[in-house]
This record gives sequence, C-alpha cells and structure tokens, in this order.
Amino acid sequence: MTELVIAGSGFAGTWAAIAAARARTLAAADSTLAITVVSPTPNLHIRPRFYETALDEMAPDVGGLFRDIDVTHVAGTVAAIDVAARTVDCVGADGRRTQRAWDRFVLATGSVLFKPDIPGLDAHAFDIDQLAHARRLDTHLRSLASRPASAARDTVVIAGGGFTGIEAACDMPARLRAILGAAADIRVVLVEQAPAIGPDLAPARARKSSRRCTPAVSRS
Ligand SMILES: Cc1cc2nc3c(=O)[nH]c(=O)nc-3n(C[C@H](O)[C@H](O)[C@H](O)COP(=O)(O)OP(=O)(O)OC[C@H]3O[C@@H](n4cnc5c(N)ncnc54)[C@H](O)[C@@H]3O)c2cc1C
Repeated sequence: MTELVIAGSGFAGTWAAIAAARARTLAAADSTLAITVVSPTPNLHIRPRFYETALDEMAPDVGGLFRDIDVTHVAGTVAAIDVAARTVDCVGADGRRTQRAWDRFVLATGSVLFKPDIPGLDAHAFDIDQLAHARRLDTHLRSLASRPASAARDTVVIAGGGFTGIEAACDMPARLRAILGAAADIRVVLVEQAPAIGPDLAPARARKSSRRCTPAVSRS
C-alpha cells in the first residue's frame, strides 16, 4: 500500500486529492494508493469571494466528494512533519495527537494575510483573509444600519489596490446600500502606494480597473 497524505482541503489540497484519485483510476496497476486529506473540516473555502455578502455559500462541504472518489478525510491539523521518518503528527479538535505515516506528502495549508505593524490596525481594521474574518466584517457592516447616517458611517477606506482591494471596493457600494438604503451617500476610498491601482495587473487591465473604479469608487 502506498500512502499519500495531503494537508489542507482548500483549492490546492482538494485538487491534489482529485488528481491523485484520477491517476489511481487510470493506472489501475497502482490501485493500492491510499489517499488521505487532513484538514480541520472537509470544507473548501472559496477565499477569492470572501468580499461578497453570500458567505454561507463560500465553504462547500467536499466530504461527499472525497467519499465518492475513495479519499479519506481526517479532521485535524498537521502539527509536525518528520521528513526523515516520513510521518506527520495530526491534532484533532479534541486535542488528541495521532501519527500518520506517508510515502508521499503534499503540504497545501494555504497562506495567511500579512499584517504590517501599523498602529491601530489590529484594533480597528477588518480583513477578509479567512471565513471567520469575512463574517466579522459582514456583522460590522450590518450593524451600521443601527447608527445614524453620517459621513463616517457611510465611508469605507480600503488599504491595498491589488486584486482583493479592487474587488472589495467595487462590491462595497451595492453591499452598503442594501444595508443602509438606496439613498445612502456611500464613499469608498481605495488607498494604494503605487501611482495607480492594480500595480500587479497587466497594464491594459490595470487601466481598465482604474477607469471603472475611479468614478464608481471614490464617490459612489
Ligand atoms: C479575499 C481574497 C481574494 C482572493 N482573490 C483571488 C483571486 O481573485 N484570484 C486568485 O487566483 N486567488 C485569489 N486569492 C487567493 C486564493 O484564495 C488562494 O490562493 C487559494 O485559496 C489558496 O488555496 P490553497 O488551497 O493553497 O489554500 P487555502 O484555500 O487557504 O486552503 C488551506 C487549507 O489548509 C487547511 N489548513 C491550514 N492549516 C492546516 C494544518 N496545519 N493542517 C491541516 N490543514 C490545514 C485549511 O483549513 C484549508 O483547508 C484570494 C484570497 C483572498 C483571501
């Protein structure tokens, strides 16, 4: 039996499991391949859409998919990797530590937001890096409806004019008007250190984003 262990059930981990299962089916000779995915829950978080409001749809359960393609899901996190011994230590939600052996190991545990050391950032800013953070922002936006209208209430400042900042900024006017009413005087300010927004986009796309965003975003 060949053991493949994959840490993470995001896009990378889930796709690795699907690809391995497909290869196992195609190469019937290696039908002894056992595929295991370790992640806290068998959910695939659709992080690129965490700026949207329909957050309940952004973490589909892929447990059924794993069962259908004969992939075992283990609920837990990988806490240690021993490359020489070819083992991982997994910690379950109950804190229990178990060890799993592997012949092949895929590390697909994702990325985390870089938060620069800016005074006030931790206390006052929101982010949409993880589902729980996106829910926190959503709860805050909804709570604005109970506050009296003011320029401060109706103004959003978004730091970072890359993909995520642009998408979040473009979504914000409609999202806030759904909460605060069609007449709300929404102002979205996108702050970017580069001379133009979308510095990492291809030049033509960046120009298009600037054209689309400037009138709609700076005062919408
Ligand atoms: C707001 C936002 C917008 C984005 N927009 C885009 C975009 O437009 N286009 C684009 O290409 N990309 C975009 N990205 C990036 C994209 O979402 C990520 O590149 C992608 O989700 C990464 O997939 P992943 O499988 O590597 O990691 P993730 O999706 O983060 O999955 C990581 C998995 O690992 C699990 N895990 C974490 N630690 C452990 C551990 N110790 N043990 C076991 N499991 C663990 C997690 O629970 C999860 O299942 C965006 C990201 C964000 C946050």
